Amino acid sequence: MFLSVGVRFEANVEALNMIETAGNYGKHRRVPYLVEEDGKLKTVYVPAISGESLAHAYQEHLVREALSASLPVCDDCQRGEFYKSMNKVHLKKKVDPIPDDPKAIEEAIVKACVVEDVGGFLYAEKPPVRRSSAFQVSYALPVKSVALFATSEPQLHARHAQMDASSKKGNASEQMIYYVETGTALYGFTFNLDLDAIGVSAITSKPILDENEIKKRREASLKALFRMLSSSQFGAKLSRFFPVGGITELIVAVTDHPFVVTSPIYDDYIEKTQRRLEVLKSFGEESFLAVAVEEKVPEEALKEAIDYLHEKGAF
Ligand SMILES: [Zn+2]
Repeated sequence: MFLSVGVRFEANVEALNMIETAGNYGKHRRVPYLVEEDGKLKTVYVPAISGESLAHAYQEHLVREALSASLPVCDDCQRGEFYKSMNKVHLKKKVDPIPDDPKAIEEAIVKACVVEDVGGFLYAEKPPVRRSSAFQVSYALPVKSVALFATSEPQLHARHAQMDASSKKGNASEQMIYYVETGTALYGFTFNLDLDAIGVSAITSKPILDENEIKKRREASLKALFRMLSSSQFGAKLSRFFPVGGITELIVAVTDHPFVVTSPIYDDYIEKTQRRLEVLKSFGEESFLAVAVEEKVPEEALKEAIDYLHEKGAF
């Protein structure tokens, strides 16, 4: 089964994705973006949060959910260092001696680590072994209709230190001024999870793990998504720039086969998604859609989708 989530969230003064520091200036990620103004297309630069940043957060939540369900997570992933068995040094920690057969390598990695099972890996040695991630996440970008109101502005901060004459040595200074570029926008992003790929070989398409273990891993993957969205624990600089705002809308679709909700950057994404699912239904495919706008909170919609998956025997 396939799960697809569209999320809209408002963030005022966030520093979720910083890309570089030039001197004392920390820059927010910005991307070129097509918007329509007076019937003409134009490009504007808007604050953005990368898919890598969101994926990293998701995998950190997955580590926690996996461990609390007593599922295996390798030492690198437990530390939040997602090298993912990229070379012999990291793979040897899971399997030693390293097998020659790509299928055996994949099997050893999947068995040893839930994060690499769900999040994929690239073993770049001979033979190379690649496993696609069972989850996909887009960049978070401003909602189109209000993208022109999205801003990234530097905020001035100062750090002070009390010093007596004896400690005034080298380059230490009493005051340091620094700028953090903060973004303010109504963002939208998409998250997809292919539950059928978990615990299954990307090479042979056959299960690597037994049914019970696969179900536990699916459940952990769903809980990780729930926790990430519910706690707003994603992105950088949360300790002093925790975004002011929160999820304003969320939709979640569950289908038998891959189906992705219409991107929440469009204002009519809910209606479009509903219409697209109706067409799917006419082909005989069952689907489920939960929508959290106004009266329903995001957690309720997510819970409904997870309950539906449970009823269908996904876990
Ligand atoms: Zn791992």
